[in-house]
Amino acid sequence: MNKKTVLITGASRGIGREMAKVFAKNEYNVLINYNKSEKEANELYDELISKGYSVVLYKADISNPLEADAMVKFCIGTFERIDVLINNAGITDYKMFTDTTNEDWNNIINTNLNSVFYTTKSAVKYMLYEHSGKIINISSIWGMVGASYEVAYSTSKAALIGMTKALAKELGPSNIQVNAIAPGVIQTDMLNGIHEDVIEDLKNETPLLRLGTPLDIANLALFLASEKSNFITGQVISSNGGFVIN
Ligand code: NAD
Repeated sequence: MNKKTVLITGASRGIGREMAKVFAKNEYNVLINYNKSEKEANELYDELISKGYSVVLYKADISNPLEADAMVKFCIGTFERIDVLINNAGITDYKMFTDTTNEDWNNIINTNLNSVFYTTKSAVKYMLYEHSGKIINISSIWGMVGASYEVAYSTSKAALIGMTKALAKELGPSNIQVNAIAPGVIQTDMLNGIHEDVIEDLKNETPLLRLGTPLDIANLALFLASEKSNFITGQVISSNGGFVIN
C-alpha cells in the first residue's frame, strides 16, 4: 500500500493503455478506467496481473459526474491513495464546422473537458488532504495551433490548457503540480478517420520524420508524475517530433 497510485482515464487502448503498462512496470498501483472497450480492458488487466503488477479495472463514463466521482472513491477505497491523476480519455470527430451539430459539440466538450473538471474535482479533495499530488492533462498540439475539421476538439484541448494553467496557480501552494502534455500525431486508433495520404503528409512535415508512439507519451507522463519534475507546474509540454515549435 506504500506504492504510489495513478488513476488513468480511458486506459484500455492507445496512449492510456501504454501509460497503464509503463506505470505498472514502474511500481505504481494503477487504476485503469475504461468506458466501452471491455474486451481490450480485460486483456490489458489479465496481461498486467499475470506479471504480478498492482492494477484494477474500473468501468465509468467519465462525462457523467456521478460515475467520475464513484471512480475516484473506488481508487481511494482500493489503494488508500491517489498520487497521480492522468486525464487522458478523449474523443474527436472529423467534420466541417458547418456540419457539426449541437449534439456533436456537446459530446466532445463533455468528454474532453467537462469530464476533466468532474474527475479532477473529486481527486483534488484527497490530494489537498495529503498536501501532495500530480495532475497530468492530455491536451493536444491542436489545442495549441488549431485543426480544421476538428473545431470542437481543438476548442476542448485549448480549454484544457487554460484549466491546467489556472489550476496550477491555485493548487501550487498545496504542493500539487498540474501540467499538460500536448501530443503531436500519435499512432493510435484515433487516427482511423484520417486518410492515409494526410497521415503521410503529417509524417513528412515532422522534423523527426515519424509519427509519435504511445510510449513517447507514456514516458513523458512518467517523468511528470515523478519527483524529478517537482518544480514543473502549469506547463504545456509538447511531444511532437518538432511538428510544432514555439
Ligand atoms: P484512443 O481513441 O485510442 O483512446 C481514447 C480512450 O478514451 C479510449 O479508450 C476511449 O474508450 C476512452 N474514452 C472516450 N470517452 C470516454 C468516456 N466518456 N469515459 C471513459 N473513457 C472514455 O485515442 P488516443 O490516441 O490513445 O488518445 C488518448 C488521448 O490523447 C486523448 O485525449 C486524445 O485526444 C489525446 N491525443 C491523441 C493524439 C493522437 O494523435 N493519437 C494527439 C494528441 C492528443
